[in-house]
Amino acid sequence: MSERVDTMISAEEIARRVKELGAEITRDYKDRNLVLVIILKGSFIFAADLCRAIDLPLRVDFLGVRSYGEGTESSGVVQITNDLSKPISGQDVVIVEDIVDTGLTIAHLMDLFHTRNPSTIKVCSLLHKPVRARVTVKIDYLGFTIEDKFVVGYGLDVAERYRNLPFIGNVLRD
Ligand code: 5GP
Repeated sequence: MSERVDTMISAEEIARRVKELGAEITRDYKDRNLVLVIILKGSFIFAADLCRAIDLPLRVDFLGVRSYGEGTESSGVVQITNDLSKPISGQDVVIVEDIVDTGLTIAHLMDLFHTRNPSTIKVCSLLHKPVRARVTVKIDYLGFTIEDKFVVGYGLDVAERYRNLPFIGNVLRD
């Protein structure tokens, strides 16, 4: 069986949109206490570009989460594999996600973070697959809405492969 990845969103389109998101966040968080909470592993490349598109002092922290095993279906169970390194109380949190699919991961993380008393909490996701939603989540900063295809690249994987592709695509198997 051979496998190839079809481009859905090019590196250039991603770069343009990430700059726009960074400019929006820069406007909204002037004189605030911004901390980007980067959800690993899928959003590491998006977050690296996004934080450089934000022209403000900010802090970054990382949260390791596992919502899928080796397969491509959400289990609905969100496991924290690596917690934040510092408290977020009194701070303005923006959660940086790669993709909101069923919404279960973000809904769970919002509940978890609210118990830690941040001043504000918002969500920034590169991708959204609205047809798959099982819970409603508000995405305050969204890169692209996509159809119901399993995507890889720009940080996203299938069984840990393809994270290093500079574009977003879907895997085709012949
Ligand atoms: P949710 O809880 O919203 O269903 O899923 C969120 C997580 O599932 C994402 O952070 C991502 O890790 C994974 N995920 C959902 N859809 C896709 C997809 O199309 N491709 C990849 N590689 N991961 C996905």
